[in-house]
Amino acid sequence: MSSVSDNKTVLKIKALADSAECGGNSRDEVFARCFLAAQKTLGITPFDEQIAAAIALSEGKLIQMQTGEGKTLCAVFAACAHAKNGGAAHIFTFNDYLAARDCEWMKPIYDELGVSVGVITEKTPRGERKELYKKQVVYTTAKEAGFDYLRDFTELDPNKMCFPKPDFAIFDEADSILIDEARIPLVIAGDVAVKEDGSVAEIYEKLSGFDEADFEVDEETKNVYLTDEGADKAEEVFGVRGIYSANNAGLLAKICACLKAREVLREDKDYIVKDKKIVLVDEFTGRTAPGRVFPGELQAAAEAKHGLKITSRGRIIGSIALQYFARLYPKLAGMTGTAESAREEFEKFYGITVEVIPTRLPCKRIDNPLELYFDQAEKQKAIIAAVKDAADKQRPVLVGTASIEESEELSEALRKEGVSCSVLNAKNNSEEAKIIANAGKRGAVTISTNMAGRGVDIKLGGEDSSDKDFVVNAGGLLVIATSMRESGRITLQLRGRAGRQGDVGESRYFASLDEDIMTKNNLRKLCGRHYPSEKTSGALTDKTLLKEAERIQRISEGDTFDERVNLMKYTLIGEKHRETTFARRTALLSGEYQSEMWKKNAPELYERAVRKFGEKELNALENKILAALLNEFHSDYLDYTAYLREGIHLTQIAGRNPAEEYNIACEEYYENAAQSIPERMTEKLEEVLKCGNIADYKIETPERIYTYLLNDMAEEFRVKPLLLNVFSEEDEQELIKEDEAEEKKGFFKKLFGKK
Ligand code: ADP
Ligand code: MG
Repeated sequence: MSSVSDNKTVLKIKALADSAECGGNSRDEVFARCFLAAQKTLGITPFDEQIAAAIALSEGKLIQMQTGEGKTLCAVFAACAHAKNGGAAHIFTFNDYLAARDCEWMKPIYDELGVSVGVITEKTPRGERKELYKKQVVYTTAKEAGFDYLRDFTELDPNKMCFPKPDFAIFDEADSILIDEARIPLVIAGDVAVKEDGSVAEIYEKLSGFDEADFEVDEETKNVYLTDEGADKAEEVFGVRGIYSANNAGLLAKICACLKAREVLREDKDYIVKDKKIVLVDEFTGRTAPGRVFPGELQAAAEAKHGLKITSRGRIIGSIALQYFARLYPKLAGMTGTAESAREEFEKFYGITVEVIPTRLPCKRIDNPLELYFDQAEKQKAIIAAVKDAADKQRPVLVGTASIEESEELSEALRKEGVSCSVLNAKNNSEEAKIIANAGKRGAVTISTNMAGRGVDIKLGGEDSSDKDFVVNAGGLLVIATSMRESGRITLQLRGRAGRQGDVGESRYFASLDEDIMTKNNLRKLCGRHYPSEKTSGALTDKTLLKEAERIQRISEGDTFDERVNLMKYTLIGEKHRETTFARRTALLSGEYQSEMWKKNAPELYERAVRKFGEKELNALENKILAALLNEFHSDYLDYTAYLREGIHLTQIAGRNPAEEYNIACEEYYENAAQSIPERMTEKLEEVLKCGNIADYKIETPERIYTYLLNDMAEEFRVKPLLLNVFSEEDEQELIKEDEAEEKKGFFKKLFGKK
């Protein structure tokens, strides 16, 4: 797209606004009214680029629009047009702070249009959410909405369910949520009673004679595997033949889990023992995470390690990765400053096309080429010099680091040099927003991780632009990226912090030869004799070396993309099963579907119960009991699949295809376990009959509910290089080819015919 000023639709919308003949509810008329409302209430006249972007959003596209170009307003147009046509739009912001800010900021426009709007953040009480979700437009985060979706799965009273039928979702900072965090599952768990099982404790005991020669610990996944020696020993100790055969898969998983509990899990670091229970410690926050359990057999193994006998256990009730949560919406749109480079991924995973909106004013930012150093120490010296130089001139500088620890370290080093700075730790609260909003102030030195402060506008001269002239003369905001990231998109995102709306600005980009990304992708080998043979101080200037280092970035991008594609081969099946189970459950509770299991499978008992309690009452109870049973069924399913993932790499050893095996095993389990439901239902009916009054029957539900993000899920799947090779190159090509043929439909259509 070259220019938007001659875009016919944009012109038409502006003409409609001019003529004031825009009372109808066609998209263009609603857009014209939004245009007028923005002028009237906020005192801003939407730019042509913003109208063009809004058109693309309402067509379900992903727009790339640079930071500071005014995307917040674009979403309002699209949401209003959708609402005026009877739909409901959810606008997902990067964090709670932005959801509240954007809703408050844009509310006058919605009010003017007569469109109801609300905001849901972590602080919003559960009791208020149902009403809020009835608003035509809701600002919230994918995390909050995703948890609401999952929580409904724990309710037995349909009136208490709050999450509406997904309709239209607009994701702000879309690449962050839909790509970088897409694989993070939201998990909901609860305390439930469990039957005691001593088998793991017994196995743990019998493994006391196993030592280093018998197993290996994988450095990356921390999973434990038997060596050949260990396998022989296991067959002897447990009296089985073929420890890798399918019959012994359960035993093997327990053995590996016990060894992992013994050798890898550390008390007080990974978990604590409290009130005779294993309580996990969250690796990110360092706080205990009650209700959270180790996957598969590992929880029981950890208990065996401490001789604990467990009668109630936190069980995972449901989970959904953000990627799949987004896919629940029949219509998707998104906006971000950096979408272009992830075009293929957006199209493939979400079936949405990327449209690039040009900047309103030409970009004046100077983007310097990669500055490469021999090692971290050399690099840090250069970064400190760069920051110091800017600080001396009182030129504002924003440093983007890869982690909170790196931020802390760098700020400490700078302080020693007499440079004081603000450090942001991605708490995403209003205080941090204030700091980042002032990152363009004269003399400001701000250090932040990539995540912190996203979505907040950086004005030159500070929030009030007071020192703008001084800062402009100093060259505008200087942005420094401290290392090469897995994806060039992250670096671009950071660069985009400078030079907003035609401002002057500059970006510098540092890396060193000893960064993980360089060593992992074997830069040394790629460069051959151009690779320095000994430590060199100062910036490296060899052209081949620099070129190859930049190429590493693209190699790494390709790898992570492949990894995500591969991961999907494992996760799709679970999503399909969850959707089916959820849908059945909802149909039962809403009364849309009446179970006839009792009538069919236990007619005599059923008749007796009807006479005792009445048909209507009994049928209602049957639906509820079955819905609760579906929860148990789903928890069992999740346990089983977690256990399966732990052991699935082993099928590779037996010469089979793990992804395929995994899918078959999940499918089999789902079908087989479902077959036990009628019998379990009959047992429940017997219990019901023992009650004097139908109201006396209590359906067992979890006592407490917990929610958390499981950051290590992707890790679990990343099991090994073995897993990454499961689909041969040809399979891969075939998938891609089919995908290209079925334009815009992505994986899903092909696999389930959805969308
Ligand atoms: P983005 O999300 O694209 O980074 P924002 O929506 O945060 O940008 O807007 C950036 C700044 O631009 C805000 O201060 C906003 O008030 C301002 N702005 C947006 N649209 C206009 C407009 N049409 N005219 C003037 N200022 C605008
Ligand atoms: Mg924004």
